[in-house]
Amino acid sequence: MDLIADIDRKLDALATQSLTRRLRVADSPCAPRQVVDGRAMLAFCSNDYLSLAAHPAVIAALQEGAARYGAGSGASHLVSGHSRAHALLETRFGEWLAPHIDQARALYLCTGYMANLAVLTALGADADAMIFSEALNHASLIDGARLAKAGVAVYPHGDVAALERQLAASTAATRIVVTDSVFSMDGDLAPLPALLALCERLGAWLVVDDAHGFGVLGEHGRGALEHFGLRSPNLVYIGTLGKAAGVGGAFVAAHASVIELLVQRARPYIYTTAAPPALAHALQASLDIIGGDEGVQRRAHLAALVEHLQDALRLQRWQLLPSRTAIQPVIIGSNEDALRVAAGLHEQSLWVPAIRPPTVAPGTARLRVTLSAAHTHDDVALLARALNELERATA
Ligand SMILES: *Cc1c(COP(=O)(O)O)cnc(C)c1O
Repeated sequence: MDLIADIDRKLDALATQSLTRRLRVADSPCAPRQVVDGRAMLAFCSNDYLSLAAHPAVIAALQEGAARYGAGSGASHLVSGHSRAHALLETRFGEWLAPHIDQARALYLCTGYMANLAVLTALGADADAMIFSEALNHASLIDGARLAKAGVAVYPHGDVAALERQLAASTAATRIVVTDSVFSMDGDLAPLPALLALCERLGAWLVVDDAHGFGVLGEHGRGALEHFGLRSPNLVYIGTLGKAAGVGGAFVAAHASVIELLVQRARPYIYTTAAPPALAHALQASLDIIGGDEGVQRRAHLAALVEHLQDALRLQRWQLLPSRTAIQPVIIGSNEDALRVAAGLHEQSLWVPAIRPPTVAPGTARLRVTLSAAHTHDDVALLARALNELERATA
């Protein structure tokens, strides 16, 4: 009984700080119009930016993949689970990133979380390595750095000059700079061209987590490297595939030698059952859309929605962060207020998640509005009106 009482005390402590999180059950596929806990909602929550998660062509490819390759892979990649579907997908990612990385090769992993653990533990495997981690990096990068044998230094958000001082002062044999490309809770972009120039000058790796860029940034949706027109042998690129690509998993693209090191040494790659090959097969359909005319149209519509939301919001106390991506956070401040506003939206059947610490810094609790290509301009107008009125009503 004491064991349970101890846990319950911890849970009570979360509740008194308005930090309890609650699971909601989706009764329909991921889409702006979604049935949640039995109730029809207009959702601004998902990272399905191109609305591919329930795209008929992707669903059909998943079904075809299951029929062709079965439901599961049966083993880890190095034992017997590496299917033709995985191999074909990796070849295609290698080709997609070839304009940006010398001798590019790609590896498909089960999740982005695991890909980040794999990259940082393999590149930072030695105690004389040092990882320089951007302050607003995703939890999976923080955990990857903790798990690596390398030392870890955190540099301030977007501060290339501070990073340069830290890098220059370091005597580490291997120096690894790691950053989100699009910051997941703020929506802004890392200064990748300046970071890459610095890394090239000082002989450091630049690991880019493009979870929120792959599929949406760049003319062909190839992500942040295409957006900025970057190419370098120093780049290690991670694209996750459960967001804009609408399916799941992640890939790492880097020089073939880096990828070979991951195959040989990265425990999150080696010691886990390979993802179902049908997912890899379905991703081929996602890539067809992302790289084709439909992808161009979806990205253009998404960009128009972002502009519409920014024009329509008239906030005085709350702050819309200056983001040009589909992540449009509205800073409310306290946890209680953020929850109250989210509840007010929920009463109007609008679903926007309240993001609180530790995901964001204390005092910056926010609504994380995300837009998708399946939203309409009417949807955006509805949300903007509701937010404008709620701000006035809670003054
Ligand atoms: C979502 C996310 C991940 C994790 O990717 P999954 O495939 O969901 O495990 C990693 N990095 C960032 C920045 C993310 O937003």
